[in-house]
Amino acid sequence: MPSDEKRWTMIPDMLCAEPKPLKPEIPGPVYSRDDIRGHTSEFTVAHLPDLPRSRLDEPTTAVLLFNHMKEQILSIPSFGQPFKLPPIRHRISSHGRYGLTVHAHEDIVPGELIMRERPLVAYPNVFVTKYLQAAVNTLSEVNQLYFNGLHNAYPTEDATYGIAKTNAFNIQSLPGYAEDYRAVFKHISRLNHCCSYNAVFRFDLISFTGEIRARRKIMKGEEITISYINPAYDYASREERRQELYTRYRFICQCRVCIFSDKDSEESDGIRRSIGQRLAHLERLLREHGDRELLEWCLTPPSNDDNALINSTHQLLTDMKMQRIYYPRAAGIFISRMCKLYCAKANVIEAVNWANQAAALCRAYEGHDGGWAAIAKKPTKTNYWNLKKLPRDVAVDKEMGF
Ligand SMILES: [Zn+2]
Repeated sequence: MPSDEKRWTMIPDMLCAEPKPLKPEIPGPVYSRDDIRGHTSEFTVAHLPDLPRSRLDEPTTAVLLFNHMKEQILSIPSFGQPFKLPPIRHRISSHGRYGLTVHAHEDIVPGELIMRERPLVAYPNVFVTKYLQAAVNTLSEVNQLYFNGLHNAYPTEDATYGIAKTNAFNIQSLPGYAEDYRAVFKHISRLNHCCSYNAVFRFDLISFTGEIRARRKIMKGEEITISYINPAYDYASREERRQELYTRYRFICQCRVCIFSDKDSEESDGIRRSIGQRLAHLERLLREHGDRELLEWCLTPPSNDDNALINSTHQLLTDMKMQRIYYPRAAGIFISRMCKLYCAKANVIEAVNWANQAAALCRAYEGHDGGWAAIAKKPTKTNYWNLKKLPRDVAVDKEMGF
């Protein structure tokens, strides 16, 4: 946590740019995909975390590991820390052709934790059929029933591998192995896909748990859904999304957006494409010059054109909201911008409103508010405060200190 003085001058520029797995600097071999393909090393099955006697009633995960990986993982400071379960805000029920579904049984606010659990099984993202079966065999009888009860989109392949391929989440790399790991969960793996999903998955290495958090307000009775595909598909057309989902999961998406009429679907495709293009443009500018547009606006004395940048940024967020897409990079960039614009205009109500939205988004994807809650409490302490009304040279000096 930065010092108080520094905290007030800090507005995160971008939320959740990329997931950042913890990779402690621990000496030891790091294996690559080629090691596995060549089987130059064997796997072991370990149950993680290694719990002390006092916590033996907590669940553990059967993890496929190369030799030496276990030591490296156990060397992570605080690894396997106890975790609290959130209050139950959902229920799992049978729902016609979609099999089991998960619904909210009360209103859930953006960023709120909905589900948290340790995986049943975790394994490296390569073809590991016989080893995977060995890991599943170490589960308790009840957990094996849970695992085998999950949907298998690949009935012609090995059943265990088919179930894993259908239900696993990417949990990023673990110490000692350079590439991604995947994990299958008892309950989280039950969540259905929607192209306008309302919840997101993240993995916490320290507690070795997966989390589902709301990325927008979820109303009582609404189904809790996630995306099975890369967030970049938020900007893709229905055809492209369906193709990707069919290739990976063997189903034709019939979610609330995919069942639009052809005319509405075309309109939705166009809006998504336009959001993607505007984001790509802004990202390129940010990479090359920082947010010059915002800075120039802040340094220009108040005029009748003041609302143009606010309106165009707000329109983009409204388009995203209408399509119910909130790709974190896009929402992060534009929400952060809205907060800065209103800080520069010294508009407390709007600055607080956008800082709160940024905090909720950050919570959903990172598990913490990213410093935005403090900004929502006192936006007047940020360096952007009142920038628009200050003489240009004073404003430049102030902004440089940002
Ligand atoms: Zn869909």
